[in-house]
Amino acid sequence: MDKFVVVIAECEPGGVTPASLECVEEAREVADQLGARVQVILCGSAVAALAEILAAHGADQVTAVEHEALAQFSADGWLQALAPMLLHAHPLLLLAPDSGQIRAWLPRLAVRWRLPLVGCCMRISIVGDGYPEIIRNTYGGACQERLIWPYATLVGAMLTPGVRGVGPPQVERHAEVTVIHPELDPAHFRDRTVRTLPADPKTVSLNEAERIVSGGFGAGGPAGMGLVKQLAEQLGAALGGTRVAADRGWLAVDRFIGSTGQIVAPKLYMAFGVSGAGQHLSGITASELVIAVNSDRTAPILKRADLGVVGDLHQILPILIRKLQALAAPAVTLETTP
Ligand SMILES: Cc1cc2nc3c(=O)[nH]c(=O)nc-3n(C[C@H](O)[C@H](O)[C@H](O)COP(=O)(O)OP(=O)(O)OC[C@H]3O[C@@H](n4cnc5c(N)ncnc54)[C@H](O)[C@@H]3O)c2cc1C
Repeated sequence: MDKFVVVIAECEPGGVTPASLECVEEAREVADQLGARVQVILCGSAVAALAEILAAHGADQVTAVEHEALAQFSADGWLQALAPMLLHAHPLLLLAPDSGQIRAWLPRLAVRWRLPLVGCCMRISIVGDGYPEIIRNTYGGACQERLIWPYATLVGAMLTPGVRGVGPPQVERHAEVTVIHPELDPAHFRDRTVRTLPADPKTVSLNEAERIVSGGFGAGGPAGMGLVKQLAEQLGAALGGTRVAADRGWLAVDRFIGSTGQIVAPKLYMAFGVSGAGQHLSGITASELVIAVNSDRTAPILKRADLGVVGDLHQILPILIRKLQALAAPAVTLETTP
């Protein structure tokens, strides 16, 4: 009988969330160590078409659980739809993104099944005779824990988004696809999504932000950090920074980035006055485009940056902010009288 590592994937408009693809890739590595297959379960109204992308990142089987009542997220709906699937799948290991939605329903299932469920997971591997080993952040990232289950028991792991990043797709891979239409009773969903609001960059979780502007000790104080913040606002980006900036009180402590802070994977990461210490760089490895401004041309961040600018942030930031303000300003039409 086939053995499975099961992933619960989440959708977003137009595709699968990057955090879900990270889980599929992590599951692929774990499954290869166990000689198992990767089964991905996803929920929605018409989600079977996403099987291709899941296969390209490592899925062997995709189970699409479809119902029109699942078009919008509901913790009760997901639980009703997925609990029987998961029971049937009999996984060796269960992986899911550590997201707000997963946290809304999976712990309820874990309590019901007495399933050990671990959040803030950074890495999963197999040790000994096939026991899962999970490395996870704890105490807000101040230290890491290594957990091993030396018993044949199912473990659920919620993977921190952005830790491993998404690798290139293997387009030649294919998966078996099963579509299931469960019988659901939406009248018994006690929660439902009424509307989805665009995320506020100021409050969006850093590991889900697409753009981040960061300030370090080189900002020189709250005034310099204020300029970094102004640029972030102008770009619709989230504000981040280094641990030193947070320790100085220039930045909220939950917004510093690095091995003991937030792990991020934005499309754009801009760093001002950040030296690029190893502990900081390990938090931005999955960033797509890194732009750094530093007055010291030997600063390590400039080696990591795709675009490095050697200069004084106090001169560069006001110019950048003014340019962006001019671009954002509505065009003025001049009327001339003959
Ligand atoms: C156990 C441990 C865990 C840690 N975890 C983390 C972590 O998770 N995240 C983290 O960030 N740090 C962490 N640190 C701290 C880390 O080692 C560095 O000290 C820190 O990242 C440096 O912060 P910084 O780049 O802001 O400051 P600095 O290293 O002081 O760098 C400031 C930079 O600004 C530049 N600069 C100065 N003035 C200007 C200017 N006017 N214009 C442009 N550039 C300028 C300088 O050239 C310099 O490169 C940890 C340390 C330890 C010991």
